[in-house]
Amino acid sequence: MLTQTDGLVVNSTDSGESDKLLTLITERYGKMFVYARGGRRLNSKFMAASLKFTFGDFVMDKTDKLNILHEATPKRSFFGLQKDITSLCLADYICEVLADTTMENEPSGKALPLALNCLYALSEKGYPPQDVKTVFELRMTEALGLNPDLSCCCRCGRSDREWYYLDVMNGELICHDCGVPSDDDRTRELTGTARIMILMSSAEVYAADRVIGADKSRMFSLPNDKALRRKLGEMSEKYLINHLEHNYKTLDFYKEMIKLG
Ligand SMILES: [Zn+2]
Repeated sequence: MLTQTDGLVVNSTDSGESDKLLTLITERYGKMFVYARGGRRLNSKFMAASLKFTFGDFVMDKTDKLNILHEATPKRSFFGLQKDITSLCLADYICEVLADTTMENEPSGKALPLALNCLYALSEKGYPPQDVKTVFELRMTEALGLNPDLSCCCRCGRSDREWYYLDVMNGELICHDCGVPSDDDRTRELTGTARIMILMSSAEVYAADRVIGADKSRMFSLPNDKALRRKLGEMSEKYLINHLEHNYKTLDFYKEMIKLG
C-alpha cells in the first residue's frame, strides 16, 4: 500500500552497496525507518530529499516490516545550517532529541513543529544557537507533557516570593521560605538519592514561564538580560536532560563547539 506523508529527515545512513536508510519524523506515523533504494548513487532521484535536515514529501510502500521509498520531494532543506558549525551541531542535537522522544506509529504531536521552527530560526533567521537551544528545551518539556508548574510555590501557593527552588523531577516550585535545603538532606537520607534542585529568582521563573507559554510568533523573544538568558539556558538543559534520562552525544559535541567559539 502506497502511503504519502510529510516528514523531517533526522538521520540518513548508508545501507548495503547503494541504498540509504532514512529516519523520518512524521506528524501522523511518528518515527519511520525508510529504505531509499539506490539512494547513494549520484543520479538517484532521492538524492536531494534524503539529506539530513530535509523536510519533504515522501511516498513509500509501507508495510509492517519495511518501508520502501517510491518518491521524495524536498520542501525545505535548511541549507543555512551549513554556514555555521555551532548551528549545525545544535540542529544535530535537536534532531537526536526529536528522534529519541518520538515513537513509531504514534503521532509526533507538538514536537515536530517545534523542531522545524527551531531549525528555521537557526538556518533562515540566524538566531543565536544558545537562545534557540533554550527555547527548544523549555518548549520540548511542554510538547512532551513534562513541563514544570511555574505558577506558584507548590507548598504555600504564594507567587510573590523573591527566590524559589525548582524541584526538577517533580516539576514544582518551592519558595525559599518553605525551606528546601534541610528537606533535601532528609530526602537524601530516606531515599539515598539527592533531589535535583535549581535555585531561581522570581525574574528567572517568570521568564521561563513566558518562553514555555508564548505564542508561536513570539517564541524566540527572550529577555535582553544576558545573565538571565544564560541562567535560563542552564535550567532548560538540566530540566529536560534529567527528565529524558539520556546522554546525548550531540549535546556534548555542541558544548565543545560553544567552548571553542
Ligand atoms: Zn512556599
